[in-house]
Order: sequence, then C-alpha cells, then structure tokens
Amino acid sequence: GSHMKDLRSPICCILGHVDTGKTKLLDKIRQTNVQGGEAGGITQQIGATYFPIDAIKAKTKVMAEYEKQTFDVPGLLVIDTPGHESFSNLRSRGSSLCNIAILVIDIMHGLEQQTIESIKLLRDRKAPFVVALNKIDRLYDWKAIPNNSFRDSFAKQSRAVQEEFQSRYSKIQLELAEQGLNSELYFQNKNMSKYVSIVPTSAVTGEGVPDLLWLLLELTQKRMSKQLMYLSHVEATILEVKVVEGFGTTIDVILSNGYLREGDRIVLCGMNGPIVTNIRALLTPQPLRELRLKSEYVHHKEVKAALGVKIAANDLEKAVSGSRLLVVGPEDDEDELMDDVMDDLTGLLDSVDTTGKGVVVQASTLGSLEALLDFLKDMKIPVMSIGLGPVYKRDVMKASTMLEKAPEYAVMLCFDVKVDKEAEQYAEQEGIKIFNADVIYHLFDSFTAYQEKLLEERRKDFLDYAIFPCVLQTLQIINKRGPMIIGVDVLEGTLRVGTPICAVKTDPTTKERQTLILGKVISLEINHQPVQEVKKGQTAAGVAVRLEDPSGQQPIWGRHVDENDTLYSLVSRRSIDTLKDKAFRDQVARSDWLLLKKLKVVFGIE
Ligand code: GDP
Ligand code: MG
Repeated sequence: GSHMKDLRSPICCILGHVDTGKTKLLDKIRQTNVQGGEAGGITQQIGATYFPIDAIKAKTKVMAEYEKQTFDVPGLLVIDTPGHESFSNLRSRGSSLCNIAILVIDIMHGLEQQTIESIKLLRDRKAPFVVALNKIDRLYDWKAIPNNSFRDSFAKQSRAVQEEFQSRYSKIQLELAEQGLNSELYFQNKNMSKYVSIVPTSAVTGEGVPDLLWLLLELTQKRMSKQLMYLSHVEATILEVKVVEGFGTTIDVILSNGYLREGDRIVLCGMNGPIVTNIRALLTPQPLRELRLKSEYVHHKEVKAALGVKIAANDLEKAVSGSRLLVVGPEDDEDELMDDVMDDLTGLLDSVDTTGKGVVVQASTLGSLEALLDFLKDMKIPVMSIGLGPVYKRDVMKASTMLEKAPEYAVMLCFDVKVDKEAEQYAEQEGIKIFNADVIYHLFDSFTAYQEKLLEERRKDFLDYAIFPCVLQTLQIINKRGPMIIGVDVLEGTLRVGTPICAVKTDPTTKERQTLILGKVISLEINHQPVQEVKKGQTAAGVAVRLEDPSGQQPIWGRHVDENDTLYSLVSRRSIDTLKDKAFRDQVARSDWLLLKKLKVVFGIE
C-alpha cells in the first residue's frame, strides 16, 4: 500500500559465546543462493545487512506449510558485527539499536560463560530475543536437507538422532531455567512473552534458518508497537569511529529511525565535549558486482531507516562509539541538544565513587563502559575514574594515585581497548596492574584473583601480628622447659599454633603490670593428635601445648608463674589493629571482638 514507504524495518543483533557459529549463521542468512536471483536486493551496508521483504519471502517459503506468514515491514536489518562490539552499544537508555536479538547456543556445548553474560545483558537492556540452538547437523548421523525448515528435516531423521536432539535440548532447557529463563521450542511456545523461543539451526546446512527468519519477523511485527514501526524522528547510534582514506575520520552509524540528509547539522558525544558538525557525505558500500568502479562507496543525498551508513564530516576524531547522533532541526536549540547528547557520558559519572577510592575503568564504547560499570556495581567494586578509548600514560597516572590510598585498587580494568606502549611501561614501572579483556567475566575473574593474591601476601607479611584472643587455664605442667609443654583448658576464644602466650602479673608493691611471655605455640595436641587450633569448649580432655621462646628468658614455673595464673594470648594495640585489617577481619568473629574488649582491660591497652 501507499503507507508502506513510511514503515521502518526492525533491527536484529546477534550474540553468544565464541565459536557458537554467530558469523557463520550471519553468512548463511546473507547467502543469496536462491535460483535466478529471486532473493536479490539483499544489500551489504555499513556494519549491517539489509534484507528487503521480498528476499525474506523467498528465504522463508518453506515455512508456508507450517505457519501463517505476514509481511508488514519493508525488510529486516541485521547488524553484522557479532558479539559485544555491536551489542554493548545497545544501551539501557537512549538507543534503539536492536529490536530483537538472536542468542546463539551451540547444541553440543550448552550454556557457556559468554552465553550467561549475554543473557544478563539482554535482561538488563530488556531486549526481546530468541535462541538459535545451532550446529544441529553435528548430532550423530544427522541427514541434511539444505535450507529446509527444521520441522520437516527433523521428521526425516532416525529415531536415534531425534532422541539425541531431545536429550540435548532438554538439558539446555534446564540450564536456561537455572538462569531464570523459561524456554520452549518456538513452535510449541504458547506464550511468547513468558517463554523464550528456541529455534534449532545449522549454519552449515542452512536448516532452521527459514524458521529463524520467520520468527524474527513474526515477533518484531507483533511486539513493535505501531508507533515504532513508522518513520518519525531520527534515532541513530554510532557503531564505530574510523579513519578512511580520502574521507578523514568517519563514523559508522546505524540509523534506526527517520531520515538523514547530506548537509544535515548533527550533534554527537565527544571524548572532550559535544561535537557539532555537518554531514559532508552519506556513504554505503558499492554493490559487490560493481566493485571494479573507482570508488568503494556509493554517495547518497538522503538515506532512510533502518540502515547502516558511513558519515563523513569534520571534527569526528573524538567521537564516542555508542553515542547517539542527533540532527538539529529548524525548531531545535543546538545548545540543548549538546547537553542532551553529553548526558550519555556524564550520566555514567554517577557510578564514580565519591570517596575517591576505587579502580580506573576504561572501555571502548559508551555501551561497553555502561555494561562494565553495571557489573562492577553488582560486584561492589568501587570506581574512581572512567574513560573511553585507548589507554594512555595519563590514564595510568590516575590509577597510580591509589598506590598510597588503597593499593588493592591500583589497577585498571579495561574492556576491549588498546593499551599504549608507553602506558604499559609506566604501569609496569609503577606497579599498576592493567587487566584488559573483551569478556567482562574474564576481567572480573582476574581482578578478584589478583585481589586475593594481594590479601594472601598481606596475611603472610602480618601473620606475626595477627594474634587471636584466647584465655587459658593451666591444668598440668608436662615439661617445665626445653621445650615447655603444658596441658591447658581453653576458657575463652581460640588457641592457635603460632600464638604467643603470656601471663599478666601485677607487682604487689609497685602495682606495676608485668607481662611474662611463656613463648609461642609450636604445636597443639588433643589426645596425642596434632591440631592447628582449639576452640573454647571443643574438648574436655585438655590440650597439650608446646611453647618455644627463642629469647631464652621464659619464666620459671613455680617461681614466676604457677598453675593458678590465667594465661592469655599476647594481645597489643598493634595486634588488634592487624585483626581490623581487611586481610584478617573476615576471620575475626564477633565473639573475638568482645573478648578483645575484655583483654584490653587486662593488658591496659587504651
Ligand atoms: P563465532 O565465533 O560465534 O562467530 O563462530 P563461527 O561462525 O566463527 O564458527 C565457529 C566454528 O564453528 C567454525 O569452524 C564454523 O565452521 C563452525 N560452525 C558454525 N556453525 C556451525 C554449524 O551449524 N554446524 C557445524 N557443524 N559447524 C558450525
Ligand atoms: Mg565470529
């Protein structure tokens, strides 16, 4: 009908664990192998592939036998760059880059780490998605019928293949349930808003690909409100910032809604402030068969959503990937738009810890920065400073301010960015750890492992001062000296190997407090069995304690101390402070703190 030209195409992203077949699946979807160029018109765009509705009709023909088909939208735009690069630009607010996502899972592997991370991203961003359960051709003895619908191919498999499918599918369904996702095979799914639809596919044989395309169309047509389906105001997101010979710095943009025209005045988020410039050229790649033409790109006076387009303009060097792109209309206040677009970045500054303690975070795009900050917030890791793009020495210098304040945070957590050589050297020399990964979980794992390592080292360094409180009653002198061995009862606290033991006496005449050190616990035995520690009430049999004093000035039983003296672990101001340190405080029980309070009086500690 005549209104058709005002409808916009839905946009689809693809994500999932590495090697599940995202690229291969995209290739398969793109393939124009239908005879006589029936499915022609599929166009390669900037960072995306556009499928006009006729191409989708041809590719989903085999579905007619199973499903009713409606074709309301003009086509489907599939974002090409699989994985985080594109998906993390799907931001929690301000971006309509993705109307539906495909989460690819390898049927032979089930859920993997990045699958779980992807599910979290999808959930955070409230993005509708379907699961492609890929590599069904790898089921043992699968008989392939290229580009067939899944149901038809499945019906023609042997019983054993069907059973293997069923058991792997059920297992994956269970794994999804563990992530809080109810799922169903798409054609058995009675409630698409409560259950995630699963489409079994093979990116090698093309089986299930018609099902996948059909479902994407079905869901977007049903789910996208009428409003969303019509072209209205401009919505555009920067995917990448790139230098191109002959054009200078360009931006690759996904236009999800509206029109862009040559000469349009545009506003976008820059690393050092808003960028305002005019579109010099709107470019898409030359169709393949015309590659011999002298330019790689086709110029457009005007482009219409949804599509991927390269924009050439001045002053794009500091443009931020993931930023929205706004067009200044005749009614618009340019300054207002500048503030508006910078909110994307400044809004993230709320995540920065106001105490000035925390790690330095650097990411490749606004979207990935946002995702990383969300993640760190969940993990209760404070952030001191955030940045975008490659890591330079000045970024590392920010982290080095932590060396004094909180050495465990003297690190940089970098997501998918380049680290400059000079920055690397500087970090090495200053002892700043730089963690760089393109999987958030990997970053987090290496960061926590590093922190644990630091704590362990700290524990080793301060072990001599980490003295846990205990109160002992002497039951028996087993050996007076060389070595001193006594039998004790633990009245309060915990007695550990390594703890120095003393008696506290008050001189009857001078009233001075005197600490008599018996020595350090070398070993503990209950009924001749060595133990590392003994808690109050743990044994009625008594504990044999072997004590050693390298100073050789042990008090003498019967002269300086006797069985009536209460014995204590040797606490001091320093030992109490050590237990308060983060290296130990998790090991100190509430009852230990209460006991320490009592012992402070005994030892006269302020
Ligand atoms: P990506 O990392 O998710 O983009 O995965 P790729 O598309 O690069 O695929 C990883 C490997 O799996 C490649 O060797 C592919 O040929 C293979 N592969 C992908 N999809 C399928 C499939 O459906 N069946 C089989 N047998 N192999 C596949
Ligand atoms: Mg790939």
